[in-house]
Amino acid sequence: MADDFQVWVFGDHRNFFQDRLTLQVLAQARRLADKRKGLAVVVLLGHEVDDIAKEYIAHGAHRVLKIDHPLLANYQVDLFTSTICDLIHEHGPDIFLLGGSDFGRELAPRVAKRLKVGLCADCIELELDSETGKLTASSPAFGGSVVAGIAWSESRPWMATISPGIFKEQGHNESFRGEIVRVEKNIDEAQIRVRTVSSFREPKQARPLEDANVVVAGGRGMKDVNGFHYVRELAMMLGGEVGATRPAVDEHWTSHDNLIGQTGKSIKPRMLITCGTSGAIQYTAGIKEAETIVAVNRDPHAFIFQIADLGVVADANSFLPALIAEIKGHQFQEIAELYRASRTQEDIGGDSTFGRRIKSLREDRKLTTGQLASQTGETPEFIDRVEKDTITPPVSFLLQLARAFDIDPSNFLSKQEKIEIGEKRHESFFKRTQDYSYRTLTAGAADKHLRAFMVTIEPKKRHKIVEYKHPGEEFIYVMSGELEITLGSKAHHLKPGETIHFNSETKHRLRNICEEKCELIAFSTPPERIV
Ligand SMILES: Cc1cc2nc3c(=O)[nH]c(=O)nc-3n(C[C@H](O)[C@H](O)[C@H](O)COP(=O)(O)OP(=O)(O)OC[C@H]3O[C@@H](n4cnc5c(N)ncnc54)[C@H](O)[C@@H]3O)c2cc1C
Repeated sequence: MADDFQVWVFGDHRNFFQDRLTLQVLAQARRLADKRKGLAVVVLLGHEVDDIAKEYIAHGAHRVLKIDHPLLANYQVDLFTSTICDLIHEHGPDIFLLGGSDFGRELAPRVAKRLKVGLCADCIELELDSETGKLTASSPAFGGSVVAGIAWSESRPWMATISPGIFKEQGHNESFRGEIVRVEKNIDEAQIRVRTVSSFREPKQARPLEDANVVVAGGRGMKDVNGFHYVRELAMMLGGEVGATRPAVDEHWTSHDNLIGQTGKSIKPRMLITCGTSGAIQYTAGIKEAETIVAVNRDPHAFIFQIADLGVVADANSFLPALIAEIKGHQFQEIAELYRASRTQEDIGGDSTFGRRIKSLREDRKLTTGQLASQTGETPEFIDRVEKDTITPPVSFLLQLARAFDIDPSNFLSKQEKIEIGEKRHESFFKRTQDYSYRTLTAGAADKHLRAFMVTIEPKKRHKIVEYKHPGEEFIYVMSGELEITLGSKAHHLKPGETIHFNSETKHRLRNICEEKCELIAFSTPPERIV
């Protein structure tokens, strides 16, 4: 045991200047050490870390124990565990605190197990008992529904991890004095059982969560990382950012940067859609400034409904996919309308144009013009001109866009239009041959430049093959079945999701080559407007 009362902190410096967790823990270590006129000591393992050691001193460390070695440049849990255990055996600290980062959570239980000492995870309060002198802590338990009081036995060090954001760091103070002690240690490479092949920093959000106009947040109710993906997708569809409650972050469904609440970020979006979140006070502390809150929870009594402007009692894992599909259909219909208007130079009112809308949809999806160009088979210059409305792209571009934006082109028409088409069925639905039918999706638009048809070819092996030739260009998107299309003398086979774009002046023959019904959407346009 050391002569002085020593409170040790693990110096996690991977994201030193961004993640201040170690400094928050250090502030607690200093407070506890000062109570007993002891020492706050940071254990710093790494390579070429002198600046970091000085930073710890400026933030309140009395001493930094530094082991500098190239093999310690990257975090490696086996090596770090044994090195720290050796140091603890040699110096005998009283308390050892670690930040509750991924690495801290991995390292702390290993060290505690080897030393056979007690470890309390995710502490929110630490104190030295005035009578016994022992460390006591508070820690949330049972999913945060209770806060447990924790005390340690005699065996030292008393170990604890501290969640990010619970405590404040002590400001940088150049006048603080402390010592940096270089510790020489044989680092045994044989202990490294996992090698870091590469590491990279996750890209920053396009717009900080705190400034986002739309936030879609997910909580434990999203169930798993796949469920949380709906939160991400809805945020993307709406051009918003992703937020999360603590359990979603702890489960690694999203990064800590997206945490909302008392220990995370405070947001002030115009709209917050919060899904599978109960409305715990520590979370709602961060959403007080949201203008409109829409909550989705399957429990009608969930507290979140008390602060929501609009409540949806539903299973979020069913509701979100349905909502996303609805938005996708609407978005395709909207760009098709703007496209029609741009081709016919029709004024449809409002500020939006085809180009502007494409730009905003691209930006919502965080795609660069280069990325959209490669996904649509065009050049960045072409995309730029489309977005500036200086060219009207060919009709085929519309379906390439739908694919790039992951929106469903089969929802080409609004419900209302579908009803109208239903009523006009007799005039818009024709049987061409015994086994081939098509329905116009743009009823009453025979004179318009863009026409869309739903074509069904029955699954008969020996039906009459349909052959066409008409001016303009055509674009076919296969929804189901398998299509053989012969253009001139060349046959092409298309499976569901595949498309073909061709000059419709070329003779084209359609044939269903499978046993099921083949359904496709065909877009056609006369040639005069094509740029
Ligand atoms: C000191 C301290 C600080 C904290 N700081 C924060 C903080 O900054 N931010 C934070 O978020 N938390 C924080 N917490 C944790 C907080 O107390 C709550 O535990 C947490 O916010 C709960 O997250 P949740 O709503 O996702 O999970 P839960 O409270 O478990 O709620 C899940 C909800 O999902 C619903 N649900 C389940 N399945 C479905 C489904 N299929 N469809 C729809 N709904 C469903 C349930 O009805 C329930 O209401 C802190 C805790 C402490 C002690």
